Amino acid sequence: MKDNNCIFCKIAGGDILSSTLYEDEDFRVILDISPASKGHALILPKEHAKDITELSNEKAKRIMEVVKKIGKAQIEALGATGFNTLINTGESSGQTVFHCHIHVIPRFDDDEKILAWNTLSYDDGELDSYAASIIKAL
Ligand code: 5GP
Ligand code: ZN
Repeated sequence: MKDNNCIFCKIAGGDILSSTLYEDEDFRVILDISPASKGHALILPKEHAKDITELSNEKAKRIMEVVKKIGKAQIEALGATGFNTLINTGESSGQTVFHCHIHVIPRFDDDEKILAWNTLSYDDGELDSYAASIIKAL
């Protein structure tokens, strides 16, 4: 299903032209217009889902095949030595377009740190209690 107000539905469906790296019946892969590094790709499912939690399991499984294909091509074509795969889910995570997508960001040995975070530590027993809460919700 498409959402008429969704820009990524329009791009994924081909109603708005975008630089397409790959397309099949379920996905379109485009270049991000404001890349973290040059060659930064976005994998867009053609089915509208606001984020990965609403994407069908079938598409969620298949999308990793596309990640692999695009990342390997970035390494081969761009001389990248790796890539980051990023899915922002929810506003607090930095998601700005509410149509599920996966970022595939080529990385180079001498590039700037693109994804980095300050690490925290758990108090005594806290790690186990976090684990138990999440496990209960699975
Ligand atoms: P998010 O922050 O939601 O994970 O990522 C949205 C991404 O979409 C951003 O990196 C942004 O640069 C990219 N983007 C937003 N609008 C467009 C567009 O119209 N065309 C393309 N190619 N990328 C877009
Ligand atoms: Zn959409």
